[in-house]
Formats: sequence, C-alpha cells, structure tokens
Amino acid sequence: MIIAIDGPAGGGKSSTARAVAARLGITYLDTGAMYRAVTLKALRMGIAFDDDNSLGELMENTVITFNGAAPDTRVFMDGEEITEAVRNDEVTRNVSDYCARDVVRKALVSQQRSIASGLDVVCEGRDIGTVVFPDAQIKIFMTASVEQRAARRQKDFQDLGVKKSIEELIGEIRIRDTKDSNRSNSPLVKADDAIEMENTTMTLEQQIQFIVDLYNNSTINLNPKSTGVRTDD
Ligand code: C5P
Repeated sequence: MIIAIDGPAGGGKSSTARAVAARLGITYLDTGAMYRAVTLKALRMGIAFDDDNSLGELMENTVITFNGAAPDTRVFMDGEEITEAVRNDEVTRNVSDYCARDVVRKALVSQQRSIASGLDVVCEGRDIGTVVFPDAQIKIFMTASVEQRAARRQKDFQDLGVKKSIEELIGEIRIRDTKDSNRSNSPLVKADDAIEMENTTMTLEQQIQFIVDLYNNSTINLNPKSTGVRTDD
C-alpha cells in the first residue's frame, strides 16, 4: 500500500507524513530529502545545476539511504548523516534548480521505487501521485495559504537558529513554487484522482487522523475480514 502525499513547499507534508507512518507502523519516504542530498553534494563539489555530465557522474556515485523508523528517520549520503545539513538555507534556495534536471530525476525516481518495493509506505514529495507511484491507493494533495506556509517555514528555521521575516519567506516560497510548478519534467501538479487537503485551519492531529482513516477504510475494502486496525509487524 502506497500513501502518496504531494503539495507545495511548507504545506505540512513532512510532519503529517512522518506521524501517519509512525502511527501505522509503516515506512516513511521523504523524497524531498533525496533531492536535497543531491543538491548538497553538488554544491559541495562546485557542480553547476546545468552541468548534466557532472550531475550524471554524481548520480552514479552517490548512495542515499534512510535509517530508523518514523518519526525519527535519519538521512545518510555516502555513509555521512545529512539529516540536518540538507535543511540548510543554501540547499533550500538551490534545490529547485538541481531537481529539475532529467538526469537527477530519472535516477532518484528509480531509487524511490526500489526503496518502496514490497513495502507499505507513506511517500511525500511533488510528483509522487503523478509520476513515481501513479497507482498509489491513497493520494493526497496538501495545500495551505502562502502566509501559513511561510509561518511554518519560519518556525523550522527558528529551530535551526536562523531568523527570517515572513515577507522574505513568502518571497522564497513563491519562487520555489513557481519553479516546481513550471518545470517540464514532473511539475508539481495535483493528480486527477488525488484528494485535496487544504489544511490552513486544520490541526496536525486532524490531518493525521484524516489519512489514517482513509488507510483503515481502504484496508477494510481490500480485505473485508480486516478490522482496519494495523498492528505493527
Ligand atoms: O519537500 P522539500 O521542501 O524538502 O523538497 C525540496 C525540493 O525538492 C522541492 O522544492 C522540489 O524542488 C524538490 N522535490 C521534487 N520532487 C519531489 C520532492 C521534492 O522536485 N518528489
């Protein structure tokens, strides 16, 4: 069973997806962290976003892995833990340029499919319900007002010790949304069969419960004898 969660930056995908995975005892796959990892490595190596040859080599020589159960899943690149490093400001400002390259997307989409193979997964990103797992049983498209999304980002940055004004964050979010929505390869777009969740006024708990209920109902539909209550295995 795949639960695909897509939506724009700061829409609340990560907190909800992590918590849903933890509650259901299933795997959490943060595809944004994979695009961020590639961006971090390219920036460290001084590779420009449009240098497809060097990016192709980088993709062949980079191993991204996840360790630990949700909500405490950690991200590793070539054996180095980069969970915090991928959230830094420089990576955030550059990731939309690197992730638009075909050579990057092709490699990461294939890795995402192999990580999820045979597992129950909550997978979040921008193209999960449209490209990575178009047959996902549950698809959610999460949105919120840009002000709310900027406020959430401001809190994330505060936790990292970085001060940013709401106006600055709204500007950055708009730039990232525009790039993510207008690229030719796998743009951010709601899948036709995705359920739209506008969560500006929803609590985190309401968002989690909404998806857990969908999961439990679809489990009952797939297996009429199931109670819908998932016990961890
Ligand atoms: O979700 P997060 O903000 O960590 O994603 C970082 C960036 O990675 C996004 O702005 C987007 O440019 C890119 N991304 C993507 N496709 C995904 C996940 C993330 O293009 N499936």
